[in-house]
Amino acid sequence: MPSTLLSRRDLDFLLHDWLRVCQLVERPRYAEHSRETFDDALDLAERVATEQFAPHNRAADLAEPTFDGQRVRLIPQVRAALDSFAETGLLTAGLDASVGGLQLPHAVAAACFTWFQAANVATSAYPFLTLGNANLLLAHGSAEQVDTYVRPMLEGRFFGTMCLSEPHAGSSLADITTRAEPQADGTYRLFGTKMWISGGDHELAENIVHLVLARIPGAPLGVKGISLFIVPKVLVGADGSLGDRNDVVLAGLNHKMGFRGTTNTLLSFGDGGHTPGGRPGAVGHLVGAPHQGLAQMFHMMNEARIGVGAGATALGYTGYLKSLAYARQRPQGRPVGAKDPAAAQVPIIDHPDVRRMLLAQKSYVEGALALVLYCARLLDEQKTAPDDADRARAHLLLDVLTPITKSWPSQWCLAANDLAIQVLGGAGYTRDHDVEQHYRDNRLNPIHEGTHGIQALDLLGRKMTMQGGAGLALLTRTIGDTIERARRAGGEAAGLADRLAGAVDRVTAVTGRLWADGDPVLALANASAYLEAVGHVVIAWMWLEQVLALPPEGAGDAFHAGKRQAARYFFTVELPRTGPQFDLLASRDRTTLDMRTDWF
Ligand SMILES: Cc1cc2nc3c(=O)[nH]c(=O)nc-3n(C[C@H](O)[C@H](O)[C@H](O)COP(=O)(O)OP(=O)(O)OC[C@H]3O[C@@H](n4cnc5c(N)ncnc54)[C@H](O)[C@@H]3O)c2cc1C
Repeated sequence: MPSTLLSRRDLDFLLHDWLRVCQLVERPRYAEHSRETFDDALDLAERVATEQFAPHNRAADLAEPTFDGQRVRLIPQVRAALDSFAETGLLTAGLDASVGGLQLPHAVAAACFTWFQAANVATSAYPFLTLGNANLLLAHGSAEQVDTYVRPMLEGRFFGTMCLSEPHAGSSLADITTRAEPQADGTYRLFGTKMWISGGDHELAENIVHLVLARIPGAPLGVKGISLFIVPKVLVGADGSLGDRNDVVLAGLNHKMGFRGTTNTLLSFGDGGHTPGGRPGAVGHLVGAPHQGLAQMFHMMNEARIGVGAGATALGYTGYLKSLAYARQRPQGRPVGAKDPAAAQVPIIDHPDVRRMLLAQKSYVEGALALVLYCARLLDEQKTAPDDADRARAHLLLDVLTPITKSWPSQWCLAANDLAIQVLGGAGYTRDHDVEQHYRDNRLNPIHEGTHGIQALDLLGRKMTMQGGAGLALLTRTIGDTIERARRAGGEAAGLADRLAGAVDRVTAVTGRLWADGDPVLALANASAYLEAVGHVVIAWMWLEQVLALPPEGAGDAFHAGKRQAARYFFTVELPRTGPQFDLLASRDRTTLDMRTDWF
């Protein structure tokens, strides 16, 4: 039975036939690796995800975490799965050998982690957050901070969080008010409230390392006055031993629509619930220099944003595979035109409208997976390309693609989950099948790590204009290279290339038109339409890339024919959706801008 979590065949196609990850082993960082070690890591991820993560996905959803005022309780399978995960060593898959990492290419490490997200996105959130936290400290923390906090996290003994949001400051982090008061011994004491903190309390690990954004008194207003602090739940001595309980307490759990196995918390810092050193105040350690907190946090957020896109993709992918399996075995109705009422019913996959829903899902989830792995491959280029110019190019392209890689899968793989429910009909609307949970879990992804609207502002307001438009120019040039290759390849690929070229020309023209008079109010009024249109163009590009990696038409098997058909679907049904969006943007439409708030 093929897995209904992900398709290993697709992962192998993307990693090897398309992204050629084995070429990376020629670079010193990956010299210890080979196709065999990549395959072993993927096999291990699939096995542990299937055996340890998938079986309690539903149970953790039904029995969400509880708090009795003292302790947070989760179902025991969560801890058991996380212990198994720690044993795989995959937490450190992409990290340096110097910190115990496997130094796998990011593209392979990302593919491995996607298995866990598809199997159980809520349980996989704990290592996801911990790795992001550890990566940030590896980049910006001191050697002592790495020793004290990162090593235990990488060993699976401590878990990590990211504490940015406050009840009154979610999208607008400039308005956070948590305060960090300097102490004579070089530490800080933190006072304030953080909202929505995932993994903010539990007993799954010996300790929780919170990374907290706060203001030092007298700091400049706005984002330039935000600093970053390590605040452990339990204080850690110089020898690594655990000491006093820090003054950070759980004020309550949030009860969510999905992602229920991940605790989500309101945390109080410094309210005197504990008194380390005999007085209230959460003991914190500054990371790097003061007032650099948001820039440092962006290090983690960019990675987290691509990870959110990967999680959205994984949920869309498993929903697609489950609805496909259902459609193959559910008998219902007869083909249009069948005259004999006594004839056996056909499986619903025989109905073109059901194939439409499956094909739409396939085009979304396989397109999104390609984008996620392409970005992970760019991370490898950014880190290891022999040439400075190639590393800089990868960095810039990744910067431009990040809001799209976060938002496009969050929107369209959620749409895939919606279609998966529809394929199952009434059964899809019940808790007897997984697809409704996948939809609820995936509904978070357009909200956290920067909402859809905030990503849109980032793409059009920052990424497309930075360095005098260098990001936009690089994106269109890179897509242009694919178009040229497709034209040289001829046949159907050349036809798809012409259609993509038309859409790319519109991206350039519309971006120029939006910024023609430099008025950001009008330019950004329809930023979400821009994000969605450019996202579709980028996914069409990902499909053309995949078509170019296929064997010549007629030479492959059913897998290759399915890829080709999904590409046709995306170009025929999806890419044309961008036309009206580009028209709206080019007209600098003012409908939303002119809507007065008192007219609602
Ligand atoms: C389950 C869950 C887990 C989370 N985990 C974490 C975590 O671990 N750590 C953490 O720090 N945070 C976490 N968050 C917080 C999350 O990042 C925020 O919810 C998100 O940033 C939005 O903030 P908000 O909820 O305050 O909504 P708001 O910022 O109030 O936004 C509400 C709406 O207004 C729009 N909006 C707001 N400002 C603008 C603007 N300037 N222009 C256009 N539109 C705007 C938004 O796009 C959104 O549609 C989590 C949230 C949830 C729900």
